[in-house]
Amino acid sequence: GKPVCECNTCFGGPDCSQFSPGCAADADDGDPIFLEPFWVRHAASSAILVTGWHRMSYVFDDQSYISQELKRHICKVHAIAGNAVTAARFIVFGTGSTQLLNAAVHALSPDNSSTPARVVASIPFYPVYKTQTDFFQSTEFKFQGDTSMWNDTSNTSMNFIEFVTSPNNPDGQLKKAILEGPSVKTIYDHAYYWPHFTAIPAPADEDVMIFTISKLTGHAGTRFGWAVIKDEAVYQRMLTYMDLNTIGSSRDSQLRALKLFKVVLEGGGREIFEFGYKTMRNRWEKLSNALLVSQHFSIQEIAYQYCTFFQKVRGPSPAYAWFKCEKEEDKDCYAVLKAANIIGRNGSMFSAENRYVRLSLIRSQDDFDLLLHRINILVSEENGAR
Ligand code: PMP
Repeated sequence: GKPVCECNTCFGGPDCSQFSPGCAADADDGDPIFLEPFWVRHAASSAILVTGWHRMSYVFDDQSYISQELKRHICKVHAIAGNAVTAARFIVFGTGSTQLLNAAVHALSPDNSSTPARVVASIPFYPVYKTQTDFFQSTEFKFQGDTSMWNDTSNTSMNFIEFVTSPNNPDGQLKKAILEGPSVKTIYDHAYYWPHFTAIPAPADEDVMIFTISKLTGHAGTRFGWAVIKDEAVYQRMLTYMDLNTIGSSRDSQLRALKLFKVVLEGGGREIFEFGYKTMRNRWEKLSNALLVSQHFSIQEIAYQYCTFFQKVRGPSPAYAWFKCEKEEDKDCYAVLKAANIIGRNGSMFSAENRYVRLSLIRSQDDFDLLLHRINILVSEENGAR
């Protein structure tokens, strides 16, 4: 019979389980909708209602822009995940972690140097480090490309700010800083350092660490991130940035974040991580299996690793596949995938070769199912043609 409701545009058939032939698999952006089913299960306990007269002021009762209650909850979530040291650390909130990235660059730039701090990241890297640093370029800092170009002892007196994304977007690897020396500062972007996406070998204990609710709970639109900072002077500079830029972060977002954290912490706080890992692991295994028989296409290898959260060795479950076209002539891998009706993101966006494409695995189940379907067709055509 006919479906009771309309199917999503990419699906058809009586129970909406058949893929529409012309519909592209969208694996482009990193919208973390994979967590939606978790929140559907917790619909009532995660809901907020705010009356019109409530929370109108710029500030909390202690005259700050930062909810102490939310801070305590963030520390508890880190303690349960075992992914960051928060004792005796300062915490700053931002409008997403995006705002905190530049706040950290500002805070780590030298005060009165004649040359701007060199901001670097290791290829392949998340493009915003470059685009944002270029956009806000000032006398304080300037984006200077790939970290490895500066990994030379003769550079030890220069001021560097190195972005380290761990695990990395796009390739999911746990990374460490490359540059060292007295004038090197490091910003650890730990957006994906949660059991959903990676083994947690040990709590991170870096000077400047940035996290976001976007990839933890999936609420990217709430625009809420936080930085965990060791040094009080750096913390003060970040607070000044937040003060001048937006007068702190939205209290409404903080309220929603608090409610979400309370649900995350319900029952000892394991459920969201178990759900996240199971979902991402399942997607990775399916994609890996689909590509096992392919000579022309591959995805990155990520090592099995002991995870202190699950207390066992666990397999990879990254947020993105770093997909490679292996054939010599397939230099434009994006176009190869596009022809197969798969939309990814060009390697050059991550300052890498276009032989690579990033495929997002954190979107909805429908998006992933369609992606897997199209990948299976691509691989079977390759094998049929041999
Ligand atoms: N860092 C990394 C590595 C990311 O992938 C993202 C989002 N895609 C962000 C930061 C920014 O996230 P948000 O501003 O939503 O916190």
